[in-house]
Amino acid sequence: MKPDKRTLIVANWKMHLNVHQSSLLVHRLSERIKVHRDIEVVLAPSMLALQPLSLEVDRRKFRLCAQDAYPKDEGGYTGEVSFAMLGDLVHYCIVGHSSRRIYFNETLELIRDKVQAAVRNGIVPIICIGETKQERDAGEGRQVIHDQLTTALVNVTSKDLENVVLVYEPVWAISTFDGIVAKPDDVEKSIAYMRMQVAELYGKKAAEEVRVLYGGSVNEHDARGYLEVPGVDGALIGAASLNYHQFAAIVDAAYNLRIKA
Ligand code: PEP
Repeated sequence: MKPDKRTLIVANWKMHLNVHQSSLLVHRLSERIKVHRDIEVVLAPSMLALQPLSLEVDRRKFRLCAQDAYPKDEGGYTGEVSFAMLGDLVHYCIVGHSSRRIYFNETLELIRDKVQAAVRNGIVPIICIGETKQERDAGEGRQVIHDQLTTALVNVTSKDLENVVLVYEPVWAISTFDGIVAKPDDVEKSIAYMRMQVAELYGKKAAEEVRVLYGGSVNEHDARGYLEVPGVDGALIGAASLNYHQFAAIVDAAYNLRIKA
């Protein structure tokens, strides 16, 4: 990893933890996690917990992230929350998570619009990209990565790209889907392919500089291995982020790597 990049460790709590439980977990993490200038720890609680957590988190240690938002800034979209409304609360928003693509039928175009809305409202989109097991078995992995990445970045300028995070998150590796442990070699190849796509769109320098994370069943035992993969700038953690021992150990792994570097 380039020394001027911060390692990003993102906790996706998905639809777990009510407001009280979220607050308790933040409290416990706060006791365990040290401030480190090269590590950025990002928490993505439920939408409901964002407001109370925004008042209590230690901002030197954590940044907040929404798990999703609606691409229109306002209007008759019952039940939705816009990126515009989240502007004061969060630094990041996950966009195109596979559970949204799969359970809520989010299309490439909707995800493109969400990326645009995030950028327009000063929120950094964390864009999840990855193929399903079926697509992988059919030899379509690269095509899927290409299509998801290039559509998501339509209308994103080189300047905007500085405030975009990409995640290689193969659906087959996510604990709530197939949970197959990805080989670091495969992660390296897919991330190199993603950077190659970015290079074609924005040039070599932008491709080196854009932050790319890995996500999929990362735990406290294998986190270091994934973080050492060339091209990986951090990790998106689901299940293991709900346990403060495990999540703090993952942050420690990132911390130790940066100290060593
Ligand atoms: C996720 O859902 O974004 C994820 C990475 O989950 P897990 O770590 O549980 O596979």
